[in-house]
Amino acid sequence: MPSAPTPSIADTRRDQMYPTLAPAEIERVRRFGTLRAFASGEALAKVGVGGVGLAIVLSGVVDVSRHDSSGKRTPLVALEAGAFLGELAQLAGRPALVDAAARGPVEALVIPPDRLRALLIAEAELGERIMRALILRRVRLLETGAGGPVIVGRADSGDVLRLQGFLRRNGHPHQQLDPEVDADAKTLIERFQVDPGQLPIVLCPGGQLLRNPGETELARCLGLVRPIDPDRVYDVAIVGAGPAGLAAAVYAGSEGLRALVLDCRAFGGQAGASARIENYLGFPTGISGMALMARAYNQAQKFGVEMVIPDEAAALDPASFAREGRFALNLANGERASARAVVIASGVRYRRPAAANLAAFEGTSVHYWASPLEAKLCAGQEVALVGAGNSAGQAVVYLASQVKKVWLLVRGPSLAAKMSRYLVDRIAGLANVEVLTQTNVSGLDGSGGVLEAVRWRGPSGEETRHPLRHLFLFIGADPNTDWLVGSGVALDPKGFILTGNGADGAGRPLETSVRGVFAIGDVRSGSTKRVAAAVGEGAQVVAALHAFLAEETSEPAKVFAARA
Ligand SMILES: Cc1cc2nc3c(=O)[nH]c(=O)nc-3n(C[C@H](O)[C@H](O)[C@H](O)COP(=O)(O)OP(=O)(O)OC[C@H]3O[C@@H](n4cnc5c(N)ncnc54)[C@H](O)[C@@H]3O)c2cc1C
Repeated sequence: MPSAPTPSIADTRRDQMYPTLAPAEIERVRRFGTLRAFASGEALAKVGVGGVGLAIVLSGVVDVSRHDSSGKRTPLVALEAGAFLGELAQLAGRPALVDAAARGPVEALVIPPDRLRALLIAEAELGERIMRALILRRVRLLETGAGGPVIVGRADSGDVLRLQGFLRRNGHPHQQLDPEVDADAKTLIERFQVDPGQLPIVLCPGGQLLRNPGETELARCLGLVRPIDPDRVYDVAIVGAGPAGLAAAVYAGSEGLRALVLDCRAFGGQAGASARIENYLGFPTGISGMALMARAYNQAQKFGVEMVIPDEAAALDPASFAREGRFALNLANGERASARAVVIASGVRYRRPAAANLAAFEGTSVHYWASPLEAKLCAGQEVALVGAGNSAGQAVVYLASQVKKVWLLVRGPSLAAKMSRYLVDRIAGLANVEVLTQTNVSGLDGSGGVLEAVRWRGPSGEETRHPLRHLFLFIGADPNTDWLVGSGVALDPKGFILTGNGADGAGRPLETSVRGVFAIGDVRSGSTKRVAAAVGEGAQVVAALHAFLAEETSEPAKVFAARA
């Protein structure tokens, strides 16, 4: 019997998605907005265009709808008096993901993004209801892909997977159309006269067409990143939006510091790639890394932290502080960000084995993450996974529930040396996982980016060739500190950042050898490589930041007074 379809969030949590504010509640929040009248048919929001902010309907009806790539319009909801228009994009003033228009004359209380954030903080109970509604509305848009770009290209193309991965990791809705099976995709290809060799193309909600764009180009087209104001001096620039960077952002923002967060890939870091985190305090049934990190990302935005994703820190100018009394971060796109202090939370990147042709299969057949996206590609197939740490163990447990069989290749004599006991036990109970110890990958065979077989050598030294389309690598990581060359920040022999007593000249815990530059999380020498440890250091560093900023400013009270 076919299984019942998963119910949509619009069916199960509709009341929370579309709450109605009582007249007394609207009175309380009047001070955050301005009254505006909209004529019949006038737009309150247009997909791809910066909207007015959160709009509470005082009288009349607002029709909210979405449209697909062929222009077909689908109604989403009609908002009447007491209901409000908005979703997560409004927190940071990003372009709208839905269309909304007045049905007849409408009067609304319009609350711009900065005042919306102030409301969420000042009105705790009401703020919670509004924030929940904003999040649920985004979840609904993610379910349908509404309001996001349309990626046209083969489902198994490396570039399609790259673009989908970027949007998914950044919590942005999107659709993917395969020209081999989808009539709409063929229509778009004909309409824009695209040569099949130029696929994938991306049709942005504003109507722009991008040909196989990079992540930065796509993010700019979607309005996810804006240029950094070179004249603005932040209290702190945080490099990396993994758990450490996001925790520092939440604590800095909630304590009134003007914080900027940069990440070259997506929020969440490695934790965002974890299918299920089971050892994070307070989640007895576990939580997906993406769900945990998305909460933190939204929380930081609520406190007014500015997020610039994707944007890569390329260098820290060592002389800038002495010269200008502020740190200058040079970004890979040529921009520059200025801050009175810097927190480095750039984490680690995955190691790649020395297989000569590995790069040819990355993105299509060789994976460093095991998310639902990869699981879908491998459904019903056999896969191989290399690694023996906790991240490898989690990936095996997840993949085993999605694929026919997992070959787990372990270099050492057993799993127990590096993996937590609960994962070792769980793997032992999985009938479709075969653990091969003292085994190393010796080669990859295939062509055109498609893996056909993986070769490995076991304890006897004999080589086995196994037909497989997908290989997962979880073999450890190196610190993301290349960009600090020449910055004066001292590193240990493996490239991790020295802090506190270990770093020459460091006065405070978590401070590097450069005063006013701090390091937290996995990138820090000697840190515990866990989500909770990274989050703890993110919280702890804010106390050190306050102390540093107070010392630096001639009028210490100024830093705090400015936030009130
Ligand atoms: C698959 C997987 C599962 C895991 N499961 C668990 C678990 O269950 N429990 C647990 O406790 N731990 C788990 N871990 C470990 C945990 O995720 C890490 O310890 C934690 O994410 C470290 O956080 P971080 O913020 O220090 O660094 P990271 O998570 O590595 O984040 C660093 C961020 O910095 C960005 N960045 C790097 N360089 C630059 C630059 N130059 N400019 C801008 N941005 C930059 C990166 O894009 C990244 O987003 C897991 C790890 C993996 C990979």
